[in-house]
Amino acid sequence: MKYDYDVIVIGSGPAGFSCAMQSTKFDKKVLIVEASTYSLGGSWISKGTVPSKALRAAAKLIQSFNKQFGDEKGRKPYERFRMEDIMEYKKPILESKNKQVKDDIIKNEVETARGWGKILDANTVEVIDNLNHKKTFTTKNILISTGSSPSLPKNFNIDHTKILDYTSIMELTHIPRRLVIIGSGVISMEFATIFSALGTRVVILSDLPGILPFLDKEIKQYLINIIKSRNIQVFNNTTVSKIATNDLRTCEEVYFKTEGDSRVQVVETDHVLYVGGKKPNTSGIGLETIGIKTNKEGFINVDKFYRTAVPNIYAAGDVIGQPSLASVSFLQGRITSTQMFGNLSADSITVDKDIPFGIYSIPEISGIGLTEEMATELGIDVTVGRAYYETLTRADINHDTEGLLKLVFRTDNLQLLGVHILGEHATDLVHLGQSVMAHNGTIKYFIERVLNYPTYGEAYKIAAFNGLNRVHKTGVKYKNVLGLGE
Ligand SMILES: Cc1cc2nc3c(=O)[nH]c(=O)nc-3n(C[C@H](O)[C@H](O)[C@H](O)COP(=O)(O)OP(=O)(O)OC[C@H]3O[C@@H](n4cnc5c(N)ncnc54)[C@H](O)[C@@H]3O)c2cc1C
Repeated sequence: MKYDYDVIVIGSGPAGFSCAMQSTKFDKKVLIVEASTYSLGGSWISKGTVPSKALRAAAKLIQSFNKQFGDEKGRKPYERFRMEDIMEYKKPILESKNKQVKDDIIKNEVETARGWGKILDANTVEVIDNLNHKKTFTTKNILISTGSSPSLPKNFNIDHTKILDYTSIMELTHIPRRLVIIGSGVISMEFATIFSALGTRVVILSDLPGILPFLDKEIKQYLINIIKSRNIQVFNNTTVSKIATNDLRTCEEVYFKTEGDSRVQVVETDHVLYVGGKKPNTSGIGLETIGIKTNKEGFINVDKFYRTAVPNIYAAGDVIGQPSLASVSFLQGRITSTQMFGNLSADSITVDKDIPFGIYSIPEISGIGLTEEMATELGIDVTVGRAYYETLTRADINHDTEGLLKLVFRTDNLQLLGVHILGEHATDLVHLGQSVMAHNGTIKYFIERVLNYPTYGEAYKIAAFNGLNRVHKTGVKYKNVLGLGE
């Protein structure tokens, strides 16, 4: 049977875009359907990864500027910089990313249809544009990459003016003096430190016993100390019952209780940011009619090759749930294409279990592999090596001395099992450890190879020596550990 396309991709975010690009390398005919009238490229460019990182970069610049050069009048960042300055910083970045995506689509001869994509049957997609014109296209394969949206709170409404979600906060026209963040995950921590750098007084109301439970314990404690020093207040185990406007005091009042305490507490603020997770964009795209199953949170069920219950329909990216990252979505999208058209063996490219995470707070946090606690729980005899940023020449030069890189490695053979970093460039630095781990390498790599100097990468060398000294102190001869013989 002849179809209009080899694959129709619904949604042009990282998952859809990379599937489309990979498919053109197999000489396939591709159509991307995109509902947004604003841009191609998905929420990655328009609402998520890129704009939040641009906001962070601007805030970091302002913070560094204030820290290094001070303000003779003692003014706070928000008194010296306006949100317009920050928006101006962000605008060309988004424009350039948009252009890049468009250029790639044109260069690779991928066709696009602007409108709402809906699956009519296993080989037909309907596109309804914003004038309600309908067109149908036939296809051999379909990828659902429609992404996700912010979850809604139960006890109050998001008005996108005073009470914001993680997309509307990036449209603020001024730097708030006070901000209450409800939720304590990665996105919360990013916005908390960004706005704190801009001079905003931030309060985090977490419904969990602590922040970011997956972090290495030591890295977490370091982060908690930083947060305290920045006057970011964190309340754990809280439940927010309501938010009310107080016209007299021109503020929002957030009412909450802390577990084990019957008192209702109130905190006044200019804005509230609600970050309570993500919900998949699955309604109105035809899943029910075609028999595609979702889990209890509504995310699409797929197998390890991202196939849904319908053999020629795939799903990838946020719409299938965790880890809900652009980094992972790019690879998932590419894998779907190799499954549709490639001769690669099914396991030759995979999203492996050791994926790095990156938290773009100020400072950054990143990690991969086992934490010290996880290794101990698994009964693996590990040693750790630490490098504090204050010992790095490059960090000194850049006045970025807040930070720690921690290596976790097997005591018996020095194999690297985990890397955990808090500090500037952490999200880039982690990849050196990732490469060594992917090749089952040992910390000897950092000791025996020349690394550029001065760099943040020096932290690996310092941490490796630090770890080695610790092994040495247990009585193992240094030369034996390094394999230098008797
Ligand atoms: C504030 C924030 C910060 C983030 N920071 C990071 C980060 O630092 N690193 C990282 O890796 N990830 C980050 N993420 C996550 C990242 O943005 C997402 O994981 C990623 O965008 C998901 O890609 P996707 O392809 O699944 O979907 P999306 O990028 O969400 O794209 C989906 C597209 O589908 C379109 N669509 C939806 N329904 C239809 C339909 N029926 N028809 C046609 N089109 C449709 C949408 O308009 C959208 O353009 C962040 C997210 C947020 C919100």
